Amino acid sequence: MTVRGKKTVRDLRRGSRSALLRRLYFDGPLSRQELGVITGLSAGSISNVTGELLADGLIEECGSVESDGGRPRILLQVAAGRARLVGVDVGETQVRVALFDLARTELAASDRPLSDCGHDVDHVVELILSGLAEVLERTGTDPATVLGVGIGVPGIVDQGDPAPDGLGIVVHSQTVGWEGVPLGRLLRAGTDLPLFVDNGAKTLGQAEMWFGAGRGVRHAVIALFGSGVGACVIADGVRFRGATSSAGEWGHTKVHVGGRRCRCGARGCLEAYVGAEALVERWGAAPPDGGEKAGLAALLAAAEAGEPAATGLLAEAAEYLGAAIADLVNLFNPERIVIGGWAGLLLGPRLLPAIRAAATEYALRFPREQTSIVLGMLGPEAVTVGAATLPLTDFLDSGGEFPRRAEPRAREVRATPA
Ligand SMILES: [Zn+2]
Repeated sequence: MTVRGKKTVRDLRRGSRSALLRRLYFDGPLSRQELGVITGLSAGSISNVTGELLADGLIEECGSVESDGGRPRILLQVAAGRARLVGVDVGETQVRVALFDLARTELAASDRPLSDCGHDVDHVVELILSGLAEVLERTGTDPATVLGVGIGVPGIVDQGDPAPDGLGIVVHSQTVGWEGVPLGRLLRAGTDLPLFVDNGAKTLGQAEMWFGAGRGVRHAVIALFGSGVGACVIADGVRFRGATSSAGEWGHTKVHVGGRRCRCGARGCLEAYVGAEALVERWGAAPPDGGEKAGLAALLAAAEAGEPAATGLLAEAAEYLGAAIADLVNLFNPERIVIGGWAGLLLGPRLLPAIRAAATEYALRFPREQTSIVLGMLGPEAVTVGAATLPLTDFLDSGGEFPRRAEPRAREVRATPA
């Protein structure tokens, strides 16, 4: 009984710390009085818990506001400099590693192209670890202040047995040739920081829901439109994962039976028609060494100049996207559909009216009327921001506990990269 009683008190305290930290994180700065109204905690609890959080350096005072006839109310906010977050985007053409403070200010970033090795697993692991070492060193960051490394990958992520050291994390990605890659174990050989891995579209979804175009709604789909196409489905405020986390592979829904061959091996996938890689390939006039981003920018420029082949290709892409968005509307009844990803943001301003019109034409009328279709607000690097929210979630849930560092499990798996 005593043990259970003690545990309950500790859990309650942790729950109160978490509730206050979350409110200050997402809605701060706030006064103690406002925190009381929002959380329903008593004035005494608010005073105790904010006192603790102040003593731990997790929150700080930041000015005051007048109150009706009383003393000015002191405002509190999360102390942005108290801890660091790392976000990694394993993209289609590069690996980006960024270091953030708690307010998501980017302190340093490392962009490393995937070069000729493509998504060779050891190569990707090496780029992540060397990028991580670079951003920590450039900023003189004490690893003890880093809450964890969140990694967005272009594949399906099996979290395995819940293990705090991330050793069970396995990634499956048909499009880049990863079959059951033990990414957690491979990375653990080179770092003792806590590791969190999720699908890149899902990390983008979390970022847009928390800080961007998805704020304020509970039912949404965030579409990642880059070289490939993915989506994150939010149902009643929660990411929809399915039985083994693969839900949201929207890029591989069929838009043309027997159509173009997709990178996944099947035919007629949405990605094979509107993914940046497919668009550049179909246009066939990419600059020789500019890569996919330059190719898509050139396609857009040609369309802006009225070149018929380019305008036709983009008009067709908008119709395919609108029809595929209509499927999302019919299947999930979202309040909002957010189009993000570097290709989505590049082409969005030109294509959005046509995408909306096609979605209206192909979707059921009633759910379509409830859905707005908008562009993402967090820019082309939103996957990195979203990846950094993975360790942040743990930190807020724990009421501001710094994570235990894992034992490095070097050499038996692979050598630390030079
Ligand atoms: Zn496919």
